[in-house]
Amino acid sequence: MKFLTIIFTLFLFFACNDSATKSTPTISKAEIKMPTSKETPSNKISIDTSITLDFLMGKFEPKNHNNFLKIEKKYTDREGMFIQKETYESFKKMHAAAKQDGISFVIKSAARNFNYQKGIWEAKWNGKRKTTGVKDIIKDLPNPKDRALKILEFSSMPSTSRHHWGTDIDLNNFTNKYFEKGKGKKEYDWLKNNAHKFGFYQPYTKKGSERPHGYNEEKWHWSYLPLSKKYTNQVKLRMKDDLIKGFNGAEVAKEIGVVEKYILGINHECL
Ligand SMILES: [Zn+2]
Repeated sequence: MKFLTIIFTLFLFFACNDSATKSTPTISKAEIKMPTSKETPSNKISIDTSITLDFLMGKFEPKNHNNFLKIEKKYTDREGMFIQKETYESFKKMHAAAKQDGISFVIKSAARNFNYQKGIWEAKWNGKRKTTGVKDIIKDLPNPKDRALKILEFSSMPSTSRHHWGTDIDLNNFTNKYFEKGKGKKEYDWLKNNAHKFGFYQPYTKKGSERPHGYNEEKWHWSYLPLSKKYTNQVKLRMKDDLIKGFNGAEVAKEIGVVEKYILGINHECL
């Protein structure tokens, strides 16, 4: 009996030892991902295949997209604008809160797809639509790069607009001047103090050392960051200037560095 107990104990010892040696190699040091000082959970981004490049570049119809809704007329100044559901829910809450403070917001523009943006861009490119600060764009700016840079002060090249995403809205007035005094200033001050509580931020802030590149300041343009930040991260990883094509002037996108300087040339809070 004593002999059997010794044999059994020895068996147990080797069995345990064997399983221990077998499991050890599976936890090799190389597989334990230690965070580095540059890589913290908050800024770690990775490719999300559920967000397609076509979506990022506005190559879809918002009215046929499951996540998009038509904005009710009472929030807009014209019919037929679309927005992502989540952006819309938060906007409605912000709209109601502002109303309590005697401030009213009207959406002047929301989702615009590639084709819509192409219409705006090419009308400016061909001089059929006015570009701020230019009399005759074809005569005054014959060089394609110069012409594109002028239009890029306020308008995006198709494929590169935040309006493609259904997360960005233009409110009340398309001039900064309007928001600098009286009623407009009250509205802008309210947005600066409160919009972030509803997830909305101003991507195109004043240009300067903090934001050296990109579109000019737009006090009317607000972005719903809980969604748009995800898309900006995908742009950082996957969007290339070579993908920008299919409209007049697209050939200068690479020379200008549109992805880096314009899509990503935004307020640091939005990056
Ligand atoms: Zn806008």
